[in-house]
Amino acid sequence: MGVPVPDSVDYILLDEPTIQNRVQEMADQISADYHGIRNEDFLLVGVLKGSFIYLADLARRLTVPHRVDFIALSSYADKAEATGAVRLIMDTRADVAGKHVLIVEDILDTGYTLRYLYRLFEAREPASLRTAALLSKPDRHKVEVPLHYLGFSIPDVWVVGYGLDYADRFRTLPYIAALKPRVYQK
Ligand code: 5GP
Ligand code: MG
Repeated sequence: MGVPVPDSVDYILLDEPTIQNRVQEMADQISADYHGIRNEDFLLVGVLKGSFIYLADLARRLTVPHRVDFIALSSYADKAEATGAVRLIMDTRADVAGKHVLIVEDILDTGYTLRYLYRLFEAREPASLRTAALLSKPDRHKVEVPLHYLGFSIPDVWVVGYGLDYADRFRTLPYIAALKPRVYQK
């Protein structure tokens, strides 16, 4: 039954029921916090590509009306970790001014990406601005960034699955797995 575990996978860190239970808890919390909001005022902004599955599951479990939008970023491959350089590739379609914006990110690593997004949206004068991340690697944080909803804290390993990739592979695995270090340590 199910998809065979790829050879590159070291171990499964979070299995499907564990992820689904936590996403349900996060959706319950968000639904409670945004109770009474109007559809046109609540905008979920998914950060492509890594958040697409998390956003789809989270959004479908919300009991409050909401809109869905996306933004795409790219980090400068070599410099990113040292400098936090982030490049905007695709902006949201919706105008966020006066809206309640929830940024939905896959993973908080150094924190540079979410900090960039937070500042970008803050400058656009939303009615409120919050952030949700499915995963966080506390050992890797380099900058402080407001995080309002967090799924799981994980150790400093490269994870794939549930939207997360390595070289654009493994995104559609239903679980979150650590890759064998030999795969990503060159
Ligand atoms: P940060 O700017 O916080 O250092 O990096 C955040 C981005 O790095 C995430 O949005 C994600 O794209 C990528 N990232 C960081 N750690 C991992 C990981 O373990 N697996 C995958 N697939 N992406 C990661
Ligand atoms: Mg990302």
